[in-house]
Amino acid sequence: MLTNQDKTRLAPTPSGFLHLGNVASFVLTYLLAKNEGWQLLLRIDDLDQARYRPAYAEDIFKVLSTLGLEVDEGPSSVAELELEWSQRHRLNLYQDALAQLVEAQAVFACHCSRKEVRGAQRLAKAGYPGTCREARHPLAPGVSWRLKTTHTALKLPSDFAKAPKTPFPTALQDFVIKRKDDQE
Ligand SMILES: [Zn+2]
Repeated sequence: MLTNQDKTRLAPTPSGFLHLGNVASFVLTYLLAKNEGWQLLLRIDDLDQARYRPAYAEDIFKVLSTLGLEVDEGPSSVAELELEWSQRHRLNLYQDALAQLVEAQAVFACHCSRKEVRGAQRLAKAGYPGTCREARHPLAPGVSWRLKTTHTALKLPSDFAKAPKTPFPTALQDFVIKRKDDQE
């Protein structure tokens, strides 16, 4: 049973203007939240600073306001986003989380290019084909970090306990948690 503390989010990326798919996703998430009594957070994912433009963030606020979609938590202007809500202010939290996963040996370094992964995926009809899983490449700058998605020692926070039990999607197997080009 869900409680009124449950929360969902709108998570647009300000690296381009919104398209119809984003708008549909906003409306569906908003309706779901209202229907279930969940809190709604606006989480603007602005970590990709090379592609971030204030005009793209402005577009998000304009679309939400035009649609009349009010959120319970999150920025309401570009200035608020940049000052208080930017994901850049949370980099230390992400780094701590990555360090915990490394400590738990749940992470491996991957040297594969996107093209190599796509080629192997077509053959294996799965997510990441596991090429670097046992290679023990060092977790050095300039490599991707992948989560070993079947790692059994990985403990999830207790909030996840009530999540429905579904098989892990094979398309997401060993997904990337830190890209090659991420800021250190
Ligand atoms: Zn690899």
